[in-house]
Amino acid sequence: MARIKYHFNPHTLKYEKVIVGVRKRLLIVLGWIATAVVFGALFLWIAYTHFDSPKERQLRNEIDGLKYQYDILQKRVELSETVLHDLENRDDHIYRVIFEADPIPRSVRQAGYGGIEKYKALQQYDNSRLMVETSKKLERLEKQLYVQSKSFDETLDLAKGKATMLASIPSIQPLSTDDCVIGSGFGYRIHPIYKTSLMHSGIDFTSNIGVPIHATGDGTIIEVAYDGRGYGNHVIINHGYGYESLYGHMSKISVRRGQKVKRGEVIGAVGNTGASTGPHCHYEVIRNGSKINPINFFYNDLTPEQYQIVIEQASKANQSLD
Ligand SMILES: [Zn+2]
Repeated sequence: MARIKYHFNPHTLKYEKVIVGVRKRLLIVLGWIATAVVFGALFLWIAYTHFDSPKERQLRNEIDGLKYQYDILQKRVELSETVLHDLENRDDHIYRVIFEADPIPRSVRQAGYGGIEKYKALQQYDNSRLMVETSKKLERLEKQLYVQSKSFDETLDLAKGKATMLASIPSIQPLSTDDCVIGSGFGYRIHPIYKTSLMHSGIDFTSNIGVPIHATGDGTIIEVAYDGRGYGNHVIINHGYGYESLYGHMSKISVRRGQKVKRGEVIGAVGNTGASTGPHCHYEVIRNGSKINPINFFYNDLTPEQYQIVIEQASKANQSLD
């Protein structure tokens, strides 16, 4: 029921009915609607900004759970890295040393990873840093694990080939100890022909023409040649593992290029060919292209006492025959 309003007319001194026009009624209705809209919007704004919906609450809980899991994951990755570093250390300083393999350089172990582009998809979130860092750590761990497993494969192959390696690396004298005397050791000395101080890159075993010369390790003959101004008739054996040995000034060569030889096998005889001032065998050990002191490779067929004598002879001997 519509309420009827009255107002007092002072001229007629009577209460008169107030008649409200359609236009005014419409304005009143619109006013109410506008107020309702404004309050409604205000209420919704407060609800949206200050209170979570059940779905939002659930998502927020899920994010907290995920952050927690990410933290645990990071710690586990760090722990795995520590274990891996220990393995790398043992590999570089024990296993690889045993098999005479060089340690794996730090630069290879820490090989480049990631790049900003790779993690672009993870950059736009509140927890981007956590996600990117964890992903990077995991990726680094994967790379390091790969390098380490490759190294173990290599070490395993070296271990399997250890027997072959021991048989191959030069480890005896090319002449029997009874058949020779060390005339000159490795190092600088006055050259017997040029009379100037020159590097003597091997050991001279003074002996007699025709005394047998032995291969000092298993290998393949890679050079049989004559050099009138140098080594004369000489033989080079490739032993693998970076090792070669050279035998110079021979009177006779009893092997041919490409032939496989065993340690101790006779490859020729002592002579005086090439730049030589007397019958002797000039013997060299070459490792990775560098001539090194053969004195360190005579340990196999000598007793400790004999080895001591050889070392003394080699250090005193300076009568080089070249
Ligand atoms: Zn020599």
